Amino acid sequence: MVATKKKKKKTKKTAKPRAKTKKKPAKKTAKPVSMLRKPEKKSSPVRVQVKSKIKAKSKTKTKSTAQSKTVSKKKVRTTLENQPCFFFGGGKADGDATLRDLLGGKGAGLAEMSRIGIPVPPGFTITTEVCRIYYENNLEIPKDIDAELEKQMAKIETLVGAKFGDPDNPLLVSVRSGAKFSMPGMMDTVLNLGLNKDTITGLAKKTGDERFAYDNYRRFVQMFGNVVLGIDKDKFEKIIEQRKKDRKIKQDSSLQVEDLNFIIRKFKSIIKRKTGESFPDDPYVQLRMARDAVFRSWNNPRAISYRKLNDIPGDLGTAVTVQMMVYGNMGNNSGTGVGFTRNPASGEKEFYGEYLLNAQGEDVVAGIRTPQPISQLADEMPVVFKQLKSLTGKLEKHYRDVQDFEFTIQDSNLYMLQTRTGKRTVQAALKIAVDMVKEKLITKEEALMRIEPAQLDQLLHPRLDSGTEYEVIATGLPASPGAASGAIYFTSEAAVKAASAKGAGPVILVRQETNPDDIEGMNAAAGILTSRGGRTSHAAVVARGMGKCCVAGCEVARVNEAKKQLQIGKLIIKEKEIITINGSTGEVILGSVPTIDPELSGEFAEFMTWADEIRKLKVRANADTPVDAIKARKFGAEGIGLCRTEHMFFAEERLPIVQEMILADSVEERQDALDRLLPFQKKDFKKLFDVMEGLPVTIRTLDPPLHEFLPDKKVIEKEIEEIDKFDEEYEEKIDKKKKMLRRIDELKEINPMLGHRGCRLGIVYPEITEMQVRAIIEAACELTKAKKKIIPEIMIPLVGHVNELKNQKEVVRRIADEIIKKTRVKDFEYHVGTMIEIPRAALTADEIAQEADFFSFGTNDMTQMAMGFSRDDAGKFLGYYVEKGILQKDPFVSIDRNGVGRLLQIGTEKGRMTKPDLKVGICGEHGGDPDSIEFCDMVGLDYVSCSPFRVPIARLAAAQATIKQKQQTAERDK
Ligand code: ADP
Ligand code: MG
Ligand code: MG
Repeated sequence: MVATKKKKKKTKKTAKPRAKTKKKPAKKTAKPVSMLRKPEKKSSPVRVQVKSKIKAKSKTKTKSTAQSKTVSKKKVRTTLENQPCFFFGGGKADGDATLRDLLGGKGAGLAEMSRIGIPVPPGFTITTEVCRIYYENNLEIPKDIDAELEKQMAKIETLVGAKFGDPDNPLLVSVRSGAKFSMPGMMDTVLNLGLNKDTITGLAKKTGDERFAYDNYRRFVQMFGNVVLGIDKDKFEKIIEQRKKDRKIKQDSSLQVEDLNFIIRKFKSIIKRKTGESFPDDPYVQLRMARDAVFRSWNNPRAISYRKLNDIPGDLGTAVTVQMMVYGNMGNNSGTGVGFTRNPASGEKEFYGEYLLNAQGEDVVAGIRTPQPISQLADEMPVVFKQLKSLTGKLEKHYRDVQDFEFTIQDSNLYMLQTRTGKRTVQAALKIAVDMVKEKLITKEEALMRIEPAQLDQLLHPRLDSGTEYEVIATGLPASPGAASGAIYFTSEAAVKAASAKGAGPVILVRQETNPDDIEGMNAAAGILTSRGGRTSHAAVVARGMGKCCVAGCEVARVNEAKKQLQIGKLIIKEKEIITINGSTGEVILGSVPTIDPELSGEFAEFMTWADEIRKLKVRANADTPVDAIKARKFGAEGIGLCRTEHMFFAEERLPIVQEMILADSVEERQDALDRLLPFQKKDFKKLFDVMEGLPVTIRTLDPPLHEFLPDKKVIEKEIEEIDKFDEEYEEKIDKKKKMLRRIDELKEINPMLGHRGCRLGIVYPEITEMQVRAIIEAACELTKAKKKIIPEIMIPLVGHVNELKNQKEVVRRIADEIIKKTRVKDFEYHVGTMIEIPRAALTADEIAQEADFFSFGTNDMTQMAMGFSRDDAGKFLGYYVEKGILQKDPFVSIDRNGVGRLLQIGTEKGRMTKPDLKVGICGEHGGDPDSIEFCDMVGLDYVSCSPFRVPIARLAAAQATIKQKQQTAERDK
């Protein structure tokens, strides 16, 4: 393909990516293609039972395994449900575009083209069903099916007036592979089949060009020898090279008939030597052998690993198309080329492609000669160029999507040899979708379905400039998308200091793993790299929330915080040196790579408004700071679904006060610390509310276990050592430190995730909740007085029993109502709700709803508690689970519908039994995952809330969920 020929990146193998957690590239490549196509015919009788043998080596899918096990015990199947071959040619075809399952993409495309009057050399496609039988039947085609070959060949013969194997007027064919989902270059094709010592003279006579005939023969023996007989390509190339050397010739085209004859003889003798048999001369023997070889190429190692990487089932099989040859190598009025109807990189509506005159088949992509840009064809062969443009334009209109096509010109006659949906970048996909709606080629809904929401991610973060070359030194998990270059620092403090220094450039924080202490450093950094932890590790979750790029769990990287160095293999990178990380791919690069900033404008913005017109789910953002909130609004958030107040506690000037609050011996002492925290929180909330004016803002009361706010014991011990003995306040200072040590011990929990956290904090220390409510309501009332519409929602975390909520709600109401009364604001409302994250809460949601104005599902904790997987430790086995198929997906990434999802459903239903119009949302990581969003839509939630950068993704995913439901309802009604 034109677009992907030049490889930009060089990946040096100094450090291997971790094998287990290898990233699956954007799910099925196959999926978008199938979505772009016309919906597949419901009635197509292709839902054949899946058989075992064909997929023996490939990864199994649960459903098909079950079937195959039962089937393999039965007798081998030799009868077909469909006809074995589908003919096309002469403006007609047995098949059409909807039969991709049976004919493969290529066969279906050829049939469709033939039907709509595009000039296509005639031929026929042997179905994937025959391929499956071939595998079941011990690599043999049953007789009656095999007999079809002659009948089909006869049809081509009649149509074109030539005969397969006829020495005077020989018909030659290509034998081409083609699966349902395009697997470019993975399987094999044989050209010029049907040549032997008799037909070669006929070809020479017919074309009046002996050299041409022998060149084709040479190509055929070579391809057949390689593809069908399995002989190394190099063996043949060496012979050609040797002959060229002997004859002092540079170009293949200078080889004369006797040279070619010599080469062919040599080829044949290698074949004889290697296989023990002579090169087959009987055209039908050639044809059968080639057909079977193409079937077998479905299971070559390349194809198997490609399927694995792209989630393509191993049991589909390939179709085989046998098609009359046309010749692009018949002189300078002939040629061959490939192209796209629009630019697949930018989406511009421009004809795009390359061609070569006097060339055959793969010459264009083989890189032997440099192809010409297609625009030049306009000068060289204006008539053919015009025809090509009009034919491909017709194809694009017909398929209503960009086409990626192959063509051959034989003596000024144009033939199309392949057409398929063109793969494209997201940028191009957006532009094309929007343009096509304007051209009235597709509807808005179709346009919306053409973009995979997750792909938008690439547009929403700074990304590496794809025009530059770079070298990858290590690969970790792509934990948070985007890319950044910066100087590396190994502690949070060092990162903060470096980032705030005068004239400072961007900083990358490099840690073994991060913890809540590192928040400031993470905040100051442009990106985060960790050597441990998974996709839901602290670093990953916080980075995603902050919209910063993060590569996590880069296990080949050795982070030495003491020595301030990062070691990858033999390479040692020191503090202040520059690296680049790509959180979208997990790549780590030495040095800096230019990046491009995101924006939501032009086609992208327009496209998003269409999503908004359709979707039912509202989309909010998880945002803790005004900066995040501004981003969220910019990306179209309709409120804040989760503001984690604790993140405000980590700022430099506040942490000591927070620590005092935690260390307090008495309520009075604690109150004193809280009184000093109040102005900070109030100021934060005021800013946040101001940014979100007119939209709801959900604020969660303090959630994490308190020890997270206390420093590391070692740090304090060191500080004790360093206190000056002659200091006047020596005793006092020592006492304070020791108390801190004691308190750290007291607060230490065996299992903090299930310990003293969430509403349990506010219940034991109501003063904390009081302070937070005071900050929220005072801020809101002050702004309300200034004529702003503020809608606060106070959310109590980790409720499992209705009485917990009752307790906290009482605190909230008491404080809030007192303030409202005092400030005498009017038209002001606040709501009190709860997170549903403990399974018990979901199961008793009817009781809880009596006390709650709203629910928000905290699906991170809920997944942890429902599955019993510790978020912080699951990385050790989850990758393995997914790889082994024990779980289809990481449940922390995509909601586990049957289990956790069921809780969501029960919680929603029960909640609404008590309060029919209870507002229900979700604020876990899943709120930004398209698959989970679809589920939320099905369950009937009111909104999803996700990180600001995922808001557009969620908007699109929500629209697609609505469209899919509409389609399903329409199907059902039919
Ligand atoms: P791939 O799937 O690898 O693209 P193809 O089956 O499309 O393989 O064929 C390889 C090359 O041979 C393509 O360039 C195609 O256009 C060319 N080709 C295939 N069949 C014919 C034919 N009947 N006449 C001329 N060229 C052909
Ligand atoms: Mg092709
Ligand atoms: Mg939680």
